[in-house]
Amino acid sequence: MKTKTVYLGLGSNIEQPYLQIKNAIRALNDLPGTTVIDDSGYYKSRPMGPQDQPDYVNAVVELATDMSASDLLQQCQSIERQQGRIKKRHWGERSIDLDILLYADQQISRDDLQVPHPGICLRDFVYMPLLKLAPDIEIPGKGRLTICVESAKTDNADFACVYAGKIE
Ligand code: ADP
Ligand code: MG
Repeated sequence: MKTKTVYLGLGSNIEQPYLQIKNAIRALNDLPGTTVIDDSGYYKSRPMGPQDQPDYVNAVVELATDMSASDLLQQCQSIERQQGRIKKRHWGERSIDLDILLYADQQISRDDLQVPHPGICLRDFVYMPLLKLAPDIEIPGKGRLTICVESAKTDNADFACVYAGKIE
């Protein structure tokens, strides 16, 4: 299978979030036929949904992978389980969350997998790190990310996302 460029969003707000992000990136780089090409660095943001939970650490990574989108989703869920993710409540605290943001130029609309991820243009903790890695990126079906973010802004909640340093 041809190598694809993929962007993943990572998030964590319990059990040493910075370390969770770093460990997940290492695990992604160890997946078969997969290399982490670049990362955004750490970003900190206020929680989306329930407010009685710690702030989040987020990052976006660019991967080159031979894996299909379905296999990659399974592997991401396996890394989430290995890092002790337990589903507590909707948009609640988690040790690690791995979301497929973009998979090459594909559009996938299934119950278990939506690509491009529907939150990209709405969530600053996703688009800020993504724009850092790929300022000119196009969202399949929506056009340039910069434009999509601007047109989503009227009903866009502000999660106050800030850069929080390099992932060493
Ligand atoms: P959230 O990321 O919104 O907090 P979860 O991580 O609990 O939610 O994921 C719930 C479901 O979302 C997963 O079972 C997965 O099948 C589905 N899903 C749909 N699209 C995607 C995607 N692009 N990346 C990751 N999971 C996705
Ligand atoms: Mg998720």
